Amino acid sequence: MADPKGFLTHERELPARRPVDVRIRDWREVYQDFPKPELTKQAARCMDCGIPFCHNGCPLGNLIPEWNDLVYRDDWQESIERLHATNNFPEFTGRLCPAPCEAACVLGINSDPVAIKRVEVEIIDRAFAEGWVTPRPPTSKTGKKVAVVGSGPAGLAAAQQLTRAGHDVVVFERADRIGGLLRYGIPEFKMEKRHIDRRLAQMRAEGTEFRTGVNVGVDITAARLREEYDAIVLAGGATQWRDLSVTGRDLGGIYQAMEYLPPSNKVQEGDYPVSPISAEGKHVIVIGGGDTGADCIGTAVRQGAASITQLEIMPRPPETRPGSQPWPTFPMLFKMESAHEELAEGGGDRVYAVSTTEFVGDADGNVRALRLVEVEGPGAGFKPIPGTEREIPAELVALSMGFVGPEKNGLLQELAQTAGDEFFDARGNVARDKGYMSSVDGVFVAGDIGRGQSLIVWAIAEGRSAASAADRYLTGQTALPVAIPPTARPLV
Ligand SMILES: Cc1cc2nc3c(=O)[nH]c(=O)nc-3n(C[C@H](O)[C@H](O)[C@H](O)COP(=O)(O)OP(=O)(O)OC[C@H]3O[C@@H](n4cnc5c(N)ncnc54)[C@H](O)[C@@H]3O)c2cc1C
Ligand code: SF4
Repeated sequence: MADPKGFLTHERELPARRPVDVRIRDWREVYQDFPKPELTKQAARCMDCGIPFCHNGCPLGNLIPEWNDLVYRDDWQESIERLHATNNFPEFTGRLCPAPCEAACVLGINSDPVAIKRVEVEIIDRAFAEGWVTPRPPTSKTGKKVAVVGSGPAGLAAAQQLTRAGHDVVVFERADRIGGLLRYGIPEFKMEKRHIDRRLAQMRAEGTEFRTGVNVGVDITAARLREEYDAIVLAGGATQWRDLSVTGRDLGGIYQAMEYLPPSNKVQEGDYPVSPISAEGKHVIVIGGGDTGADCIGTAVRQGAASITQLEIMPRPPETRPGSQPWPTFPMLFKMESAHEELAEGGGDRVYAVSTTEFVGDADGNVRALRLVEVEGPGAGFKPIPGTEREIPAELVALSMGFVGPEKNGLLQELAQTAGDEFFDARGNVARDKGYMSSVDGVFVAGDIGRGQSLIVWAIAEGRSAASAADRYLTGQTALPVAIPPTARPLV
């Protein structure tokens, strides 16, 4: 245990965010540096619990008390070894994870939990800065070929594990760059894309091959892929968005979040001088109160929106754990993300318990207003409250209402024809057995495509586990670890 009295003597502290009026003028990450002595204190708060519930909260089973102790003792090189033992990409989770480990931390029963995520990101950033993250190519090759379809965190984790196990791995990605939602969903101010590029350089040096601009099922059939490769890992995500079918939906200026966010990310990549879908000078409405909605807010703020309002059909969540969501479950609480802070300081609003009834257009066929009504619910549904209807200005609308599952594109249609009805599960995701194999022999499944829209940490965990299963399928044995069996844990 790092410091037996650490949790008594130190409060939980996190690095400050850069001032709102400064950070909204650029797209860089919002957090300031965290001084090392402060981080040591945060690591010292870990109690090295006999039963570390943080392990259970983390889908990767991260060895959290071990690396807290190592950071406290200033053994950073060993701490990155322990972190990489369970997580291929701590630079992604350390920045982006909602940290179910912290929700499960034992200290959180009657105090603030250990700042686990902060310790994680400082370990990996230091490791890159010191040159400790080097390529780890395999010592021998198996002669087996694996195709990974999709280059989000699930595909990348599977590819890195399988390459290191000695297989020849090719990652196919239909987009023009590698990274999935890490690249084109999550904005630069939450994670600068240099973190992906740095990791890809390591993967390339280890021998993973990447082919962008290849839509599997269109540019190459599933049948050909199965002929050419000994195993396939499907990691295409759950990118089929939920829509809002109300009057006026077809007006100009109404976009899905994943139509609005990618061109903005492409501006940061240098592809466009300004986004072809810009909020500059416009009254913006974001429909959906989740993280994707927050990403749309932060983007619209930086593009110079005239006003921003976020609408959510659910009531405002509580600020502290209600009795119905006790420790160590992951609670649904009111959050003040950096984008919400920017919204509040800019005079924007978050409106709860409302439902959109209609979009109203102007003479040019573009949206000019949105009609909404307050609702009671959820209960047995959402009931409109009579007399609460009103209209608000809306010149750009971003729909952020979640995703319904994987797109049933050419690839999945073709595989489903081979496998029959059991290829999809009851929720429309690609079904897999406990060994992460779909109902098509040698075709494995990892990430959102199998579990529905979820989290980066789950995608990495599933990528690692599917790689382990594929390695065993190819060689009859495996030394690759399994993070989690697919049915063992509840959804976060
Ligand atoms: C805007 C937004 C913000 C988010 N923020 C967070 C966050 O802060 N923290 C968090 O934990 N989670 C977040 N999530 C969720 C998280 O990004 C996903 O759960 C995660 O990326 C899923 O990883 P994946 O590898 O399964 O799929 P994805 O990241 O969706 O990657 C799938 C890739 O497969 C490619 N593909 C699909 N079909 C084919 C094909 N036929 N041929 C070739 N390529 C194909 C797609 O183009 C895509 O690049 C966010 C999601 C969104 C939309
Ligand atoms: S549950 Fe919290 S206090 Fe206990 S070992 Fe994990 S991080 Fe440390």
